[in-house]
Amino acid sequence: MELKIQDLAKNFGGIRALKGISITLSGNELVGLIGPNGSGKTTLVNIIGGIYKPDKGQIFFNGADIAGLKPNKVTKHGIGRTFQVTRAFRRMTVRENLLVPGMAHDPQRGREAWEERGREVLEFLMMDHLRNDYARNLSGGQQKLLELGQVLMTDPSLIMLDEPFAGVHPKLMETIFDYITTLHSGGKAFIIVSHDMDSIFTLSERLIVLSDGDIIADGDPETVKHDE
Ligand code: ADP
Ligand code: MG
Repeated sequence: MELKIQDLAKNFGGIRALKGISITLSGNELVGLIGPNGSGKTTLVNIIGGIYKPDKGQIFFNGADIAGLKPNKVTKHGIGRTFQVTRAFRRMTVRENLLVPGMAHDPQRGREAWEERGREVLEFLMMDHLRNDYARNLSGGQQKLLELGQVLMTDPSLIMLDEPFAGVHPKLMETIFDYITTLHSGGKAFIIVSHDMDSIFTLSERLIVLSDGDIIADGDPETVKHDE
């Protein structure tokens, strides 16, 4: 996996959410993205994921220009993401929630194949017992897990998680932490936005700190920790 971001900028009216940032990620790097509220973390994830078009700058993923592509096209390149506020389909079951991104991604592969993939994902997340539960009845943490499951359906090489630990019960937080570690050892790259400093410092190989739309630090967690 290689993600190359160059001089990326985004304004919302008068707000300069990103002021021209450059980042290169390669291999299966696990990058923590931190910074105060409103510093541009979610905006960065949204632009890479295709929710917003950048005003300026380039994004290349494995050599392909993906800047400005729609989210479903970005997914086809092998990038998956979760949302800060979960977007599971509340009136669908867990099983159906997994089927939707699969079928949308590649209908040709057929429903049975996606059902099977869904079973694999639920087994990995140890959520099989919840397969027929409605998403609206899951806890906040379980909904975050379900969203991770939706992302895993298409087997992306880069996974972006926006605040995966926010509002999650500590026990489930540990579980999510472990799944990230396992997936990372399996070769997946991550960009993880988090407010939870303990977990993000432990988890990350590299930390990028945003402040007011600019990168103010980028390096290994130890170095960043001691950077004023
Ligand atoms: P973070 O995730 O680091 O808390 P965001 O990326 O959500 O920050 O926001 C960065 C800045 O851009 C903030 O000032 C925020 O209010 C603004 N912003 C983000 N999304 C929008 C939007 N859709 N419309 C207007 N302003 C936005
Ligand atoms: Mg945010």
